[in-house]
Amino acid sequence: MDFVSSKIAELAPSITLAVTSQAAKMKKDGIDVCSFGAGEPDMDTPQHIKDACIKALAEGKTKYTASAGLLELREAICAKLKTDNKLDYSPSQISVNCGAKHSCYNAILAACGPGDEVIIPSPYWTSYPDMVRIAGATPVIVETKQENGWKMTPEEFEEAMSPATKMVILNSPSNPTGAVYTREELEKIGEIAASEDILILSDEIYEKLIYDDAEHISIASLSKELQDLTIVVNGFSKAYSMTGWRIGYTAAPKKLADAIDVIQSHTTSAPATFAQYGALAALQGDTQIIEDMRQEFDLRRGYMLNRFSKISNVSVVEPKGAFYFLVNIGKMGIKSMNFSEKLLSRLHVAVVPGIAFGADDTVRFSYACSLDVIKKGLDRFEEFCRSH
Ligand code: PMP
Repeated sequence: MDFVSSKIAELAPSITLAVTSQAAKMKKDGIDVCSFGAGEPDMDTPQHIKDACIKALAEGKTKYTASAGLLELREAICAKLKTDNKLDYSPSQISVNCGAKHSCYNAILAACGPGDEVIIPSPYWTSYPDMVRIAGATPVIVETKQENGWKMTPEEFEEAMSPATKMVILNSPSNPTGAVYTREELEKIGEIAASEDILILSDEIYEKLIYDDAEHISIASLSKELQDLTIVVNGFSKAYSMTGWRIGYTAAPKKLADAIDVIQSHTTSAPATFAQYGALAALQGDTQIIEDMRQEFDLRRGYMLNRFSKISNVSVVEPKGAFYFLVNIGKMGIKSMNFSEKLLSRLHVAVVPGIAFGADDTVRFSYACSLDVIKKGLDRFEEFCRSH
């Protein structure tokens, strides 16, 4: 008797989480592992956010909120979208979810089903294709090129379209490439999407981690027409180092927002009430903490870029956002899984194999770890590359 449903049996567990846990196990066994696997900032959640959560608990704010989330929080999210992204939404268009991962899932489930195709540029965040499959829809992967900065061109987008295309997923700044789409690039993609009424899932979770002259643009802000086609996903995990709090949100056209609320009301309901109060404090509090974290990441990014440029047989595109380097190892003639396993077992350096992102000639380094670990880890990586 096969107990697992056929739809779920075809999914693979998240490789990113597997590598992180393998490295953690080695560390526990006393091995000095340099881990570049993390998908979460290494800083603590700011104290005023924790205090707000503790205060909420002390005040007995321990009961259900509306399934779409606390009204005060949704109002604060609307104010944030207005100030930061020049987007007008009413609280009824916002749904607060259990992390941005859940937001993406709700958004896909609300819009896509059997017979629908969803365009996903690769390298992609590892969970998108499986979320699409769980919804019963079909992922259509567009392979982007390193020489284009790992960004989907309008031509590539058009080529991937079919009458069944329902949605395209954009993730800028990107995990795993750090690519940030410019306003002009988004305008062109938006124009194509609008001409065919294709929905856009815009995952903006790394919005606040952006470097040099790059600018975060929400595609929804480019025109009213595009806002009506876009589900914006954002959250608190990366900007405020709140990964374990599990708070993300969607901002969507009213009909889709209602559909998301129906899904949420029958599945998870809203996230933990006191965690929502923490998120509210994050939005209302000092923004300097975001900038301090960004600057710390930027330092590490600069150091790593310099090191990678001197290591033979690998190449990188300078990431303009998030906290990852996608390193091309194609010249070394070894696929990403094999490469990562050898790097971990021989030199105790944990990276995520690019196959998790649909890019088997690459590995991902996160720089959500201290500069000391980065220095030591890159010395080892350099030695590994030299010996291959
Ligand atoms: N989108 C992207 C691109 C991510 O990298 C992540 C986290 N790794 C998420 C969404 C999910 O974030 P959360 O922890 O808030 O669920």
